Amino acid sequence: MFFVDILSQLLRPLFYMIRSERMWKMLVKSRTEPDLLILLRFLNTRMSLTVDDTKQYLNLKKGYEGEVLFDQLTAAYLNKEIFILNDIMLEINHSKFQIDSSLIIQDTIIPCEVKNYESNYFYKDGEFYFFGAKQPVTNPLHQLKRAETLLQQYLKKNGFHFRILPYLVFINPKFFLYQAPQNDSIIFPPQLSSFMEKLNSKPSNLNGMQRKLADKMIADHIIESPYPKLPPYNYHSLQKGLTCAICSSFFISYGEKKIKCNNCGSEEDIESAVLRCVQEFKLLFPDLRVTTNIIFDWCKVVESRKTIRRILQSYYKVMGCKQWTYYE
Ligand SMILES: [Zn+2]
Repeated sequence: MFFVDILSQLLRPLFYMIRSERMWKMLVKSRTEPDLLILLRFLNTRMSLTVDDTKQYLNLKKGYEGEVLFDQLTAAYLNKEIFILNDIMLEINHSKFQIDSSLIIQDTIIPCEVKNYESNYFYKDGEFYFFGAKQPVTNPLHQLKRAETLLQQYLKKNGFHFRILPYLVFINPKFFLYQAPQNDSIIFPPQLSSFMEKLNSKPSNLNGMQRKLADKMIADHIIESPYPKLPPYNYHSLQKGLTCAICSSFFISYGEKKIKCNNCGSEEDIESAVLRCVQEFKLLFPDLRVTTNIIFDWCKVVESRKTIRRILQSYYKVMGCKQWTYYE
């Protein structure tokens, strides 16, 4: 990935340790693509989204890509005994707060708010503006402060005595902030290298408390339902058909064992393509039953119901019987 290359250049002085077995054990919560983002991508392919929904989709996508980049950096360059928890959402006193990355090191917890802003912004009177815009963007420093305050309450309530050291991390090498404030808790792309060095230089002896805190945060992690945030849709309103796994095109040819995308040229086994489509169907319509007929209609391009039935029977549990058969 292009940005990873640029960031690797920035971090070249830190090449002394990469991915030991031991380090990976300290990643105690990994990040997965949020269901909301996956669903919006499906909907974007199968219906026309409004301007606002498209904006939500693109913002989520960009934010997620930035967070993944930051994960790659911490995984590759941190060489201390650090617990890393990615993407945690907690609740305290009826307020929810989300932390992109939490690093637990010695007696300190470091919540990181990662921003994937790109191109030119300017800073004025405590606010961040996209270059040329009159309205400021949602203030990331306020977001960070809010997370810090709520995390403080969360630690106190649960009897943990950790220092909180929050950071706002701008991950994108193409980001530039005019009139940037002198603020130690902001990390700009050229400072990522010294930031990682600084973390590596901290004394670190993990004892039971860090593990206890990490376990507690994971146990309390909230998974929100993505469905209330989606635009309205139903089975009949969405475009049917197998889509390409790479470019999402509907322009697919059906061969004996493979499907081929006529847009990007990629090929995929029919079985894998149908299973992908079933997963998509299940996520989009959690209340609908998976049946041969409905998947046959949903996939469109597959010419035989028998093929669909064979695949469903091989990978899913058969429920009911005869014309009432469905799959779980
Ligand atoms: Zn394609």
